[in-house]
Amino acid sequence: MLVHLALLHYHVWIGAKTASSGSAGMLHLFVRRRLHTRLGHLRSVCGMCRCYNVPLGQIYYLLPRMTHFILPGSLSARVFPVSTAAQVFFSAWTYTPCQRMEEAVKQLDPLGSLRRTHYCGTLRSEHVGQEAILCGWVHRRRDHGGVVFVDLRDRTGLGQVVFKPDTAPEAHAKAGELRSEYVIAVRGKVESRGEGAINPNMPTGEVELVAAELRILNAATTPPFVLEDDVQVDEALRLRYRIHDLRRPLMQQRLAMRHQLLQSVRATCTDLGLYEIETPILGRSTPEGARDFLVPSRIYPGSFYALPQSPQIMKQLLMVAGFDGYFQIARCFRDEDQRADRQLEFAQIDLEMSFVGIDEVLHVLEEITVRAFRDVRGIELPRPFPRASYAEVMARYGSDRPDTRIALELVDLTDLVANSAFQVFTQAVQAGGVVRALPIPDAEAVSRSELDRLVDQSRQWGAKGMAWVRVTPEGSWQSPITRYVSETEQQQIAARAGLRPGHLLLFIADRPALASDILGRLRVQLGERLERRADRPWDLLFVVDFPLFEETESGQLTYMHMPFVAPLEEDIGLLSTQPRQVRATHYDLVLNGVELGSGSLRNHRSDVQLQILEILGYSEAQARERFGFMLEALDTGAPPHGGFAFGFDRLCLMLAGGDSLRDVIAFPKTQRAQDLFIQSPNTVEPEQLRDLGLRVR
Ligand code: ASP
Repeated sequence: MLVHLALLHYHVWIGAKTASSGSAGMLHLFVRRRLHTRLGHLRSVCGMCRCYNVPLGQIYYLLPRMTHFILPGSLSARVFPVSTAAQVFFSAWTYTPCQRMEEAVKQLDPLGSLRRTHYCGTLRSEHVGQEAILCGWVHRRRDHGGVVFVDLRDRTGLGQVVFKPDTAPEAHAKAGELRSEYVIAVRGKVESRGEGAINPNMPTGEVELVAAELRILNAATTPPFVLEDDVQVDEALRLRYRIHDLRRPLMQQRLAMRHQLLQSVRATCTDLGLYEIETPILGRSTPEGARDFLVPSRIYPGSFYALPQSPQIMKQLLMVAGFDGYFQIARCFRDEDQRADRQLEFAQIDLEMSFVGIDEVLHVLEEITVRAFRDVRGIELPRPFPRASYAEVMARYGSDRPDTRIALELVDLTDLVANSAFQVFTQAVQAGGVVRALPIPDAEAVSRSELDRLVDQSRQWGAKGMAWVRVTPEGSWQSPITRYVSETEQQQIAARAGLRPGHLLLFIADRPALASDILGRLRVQLGERLERRADRPWDLLFVVDFPLFEETESGQLTYMHMPFVAPLEEDIGLLSTQPRQVRATHYDLVLNGVELGSGSLRNHRSDVQLQILEILGYSEAQARERFGFMLEALDTGAPPHGGFAFGFDRLCLMLAGGDSLRDVIAFPKTQRAQDLFIQSPNTVEPEQLRDLGLRVR
């Protein structure tokens, strides 16, 4: 069957690699999309050159719709446009079948009754003498003067198979047809490799399978890159050929770790008495602060479901419904611009518990984290995890997710310089701002030109400027601002910042949040550059006592995390008098400067919830219109409850390693929100739009 198809398939190259802009690009995209829709079931894409293998019968459909095509051989020389009917027919005449497919094996074997006895990567000396059947992908084939060696790969690693002409001539002859990524099953006997042939770099390096029978189960197109871990491959190419990328041992290991992490979390949550309950994907908009993905309803034209930004509302409803404790490895969707390392679609370990206070929730989070590290990496984390208040971490580290391994801390100097002769300081203080500084001991390595660059950088981050002071070996100040800062002020600053010869002090005078943010970033940047990070591999920290509200630029109060967060019980009274002072029950878990997740206790009383919504600017009528179902649920008898959500992908990345979340997600989207393999997002047929009552403008 395959032979038949191979001969009738043509290598058709559609579009250009760069076909993403301009009218030609649009046309390419259009043609490719049409092909995907019309020929999706027939399509197979050649690994090397993005060709489509198209059955002969479809050529007539394709030709008028193509913009370019290519003949096998030298790619660059033979690409030409198909723009006129004459060319189309001429081109059709010159088509040649795809060489690669023609080279395909002459005959494929069925798996039949052959069943795997061992995984490739598990063969050891103890198996010597046993009959074994391995199944997998040809990783490498070497022809050593008559004897053929094949490194056979499956998810457990590589095993060596030997085909010898004298003992198994038929299998040996067939082994000559093998190419990279062919899928085979081999029956044979496990033998010791013998002294000189042992490969100490391979776990299976002491043994090999001497083949008696080979079945070629499938052929394969040539891989677009070598499937080794240390091959430097552009990420776009990896994502375009995700199947090949996922076959690399490192990716197999990372996804295996992801599986272990999932199992660990499930086991811990179950042991802690939480139920795993799924919540809908077709939901309604949740107030998590990002843009919703909307799904148009066919049955109710003009109405939309929203994909959950998190299961926040549903998990609260489950508590109200009496389930007491819940967890879910939940899929969340946030239509955000792809800044930094984010995915449109991601996983959370979502938790909610009834009749708990902050301590009980933090205990559960600690338990999940400790067991995850133990189960996945065999690491024992020290307990209890330290706690610090939001006010404290902002003051000391300038960030609510500080990397506490970096041995640099900010100081606040506002009170010392409020009446300084240095206008920059006094004006900032008079405008309600602060003067904060980052002292860096032994900072001789920071040159004057680097200081100038840091000043420029702080401006780019929003500062009006940045003052600095260097303490000379004699202990005096070397700085453009020395003459404006009095002797007494200098002494007070030196005492608070612990200045010694060799110190560098960086000052920002601005709004509190901005001053902390800039110094916090400089702390991390210089801490890394000057190697001030302690050697501890894992620093965990609970940050607690966040403010409930924050101010927008227009001065209106908005929620800091989401509108259902409960205030600390002792601060409820402040809601009506000093809402800015109200502390939230919110908490974050931070690992090495990365926020692993956040959570809070929730409002279980509708009067408090309504009061908060009113502070957020909703009239009672508006609050009932937008959050009526929640207020109604609270009034049915809601228990005090609270929860948390871990960013599952991020936790996985920290445990499994990798450069981005894309390294621990099987089929991620690119930075530009596309899946390059299945080519999503994609246009849809006009009938589908019509069914939904939609028109694309
Ligand atoms: N729903 C919150 C989030 O997704 C987490 C929580 O408070 O449980 O960030």
